[in-house]
Amino acid sequence: MSHKGNLAVVSGFSGAGKGTLMKALLEQYPMQYALSISATTRKPREGEEHGREYFFLTKEQFEQLIAEDALIEYAGYVGNYYGTPKRYVQEQLEAGRDVILEIEIQGALKVKKKFPDTLLLFVVPPSAAELEKRLRGRGTETDEVIRSRLARAAEEAAYMEQYDYLLINDDLSVCVEQMHALIQAQRARVSGNSSFIADMRGQLEHLRQR
Ligand code: 5GP
Repeated sequence: MSHKGNLAVVSGFSGAGKGTLMKALLEQYPMQYALSISATTRKPREGEEHGREYFFLTKEQFEQLIAEDALIEYAGYVGNYYGTPKRYVQEQLEAGRDVILEIEIQGALKVKKKFPDTLLLFVVPPSAAELEKRLRGRGTETDEVIRSRLARAAEEAAYMEQYDYLLINDDLSVCVEQMHALIQAQRARVSGNSSFIADMRGQLEHLRQR
């Protein structure tokens, strides 16, 4: 029985460790998950590559994607555009993989509105002090950027209740397993299995009439 993949959105404060978490999940379960690669107008950080972490675009190129309706959603975040290209997500879902979007809250809520079966996960560090420590520890951002990210986290905290599950990223491997279990549980939801249910009913009816 082929099953189309499900969409899961992972959000969380910048510095909560989402990137590391995603990497570990994909290493652990490479065949099951596909991570969507977003487009952004922000500059690449040290070590980031075009087409791997993001598609790094100019503002004009990004606005072209908006005009072509090639994005599932997009949002502004700390002075830059970020958006999810449609095509890859559709292809992976058709291939039966669960697709993960690592996006911020405005985008997450837009995806949930378009696709109500989407699972919304919110990743947090164990404490606010730990968040600041992780942001500073990256060593790639100016003090001003760190401040704006902390301010943004305070704003985002207001939306946490709109998510389905909270993932506390303390021990990485525990967090990976928890995330995997939640996404797999979503696959088993009755509401996402209507074609399986219809098939089963049809077969039972057929057997009854033999
Ligand atoms: P960063 O600049 O740290 O890589 O990402 C900043 C924020 O943008 C993060 O919260 C990240 O999840 C979010 N983000 C990344 N890609 C997308 C996207 O395609 N759409 C939206 N709405 N947010 C995104």
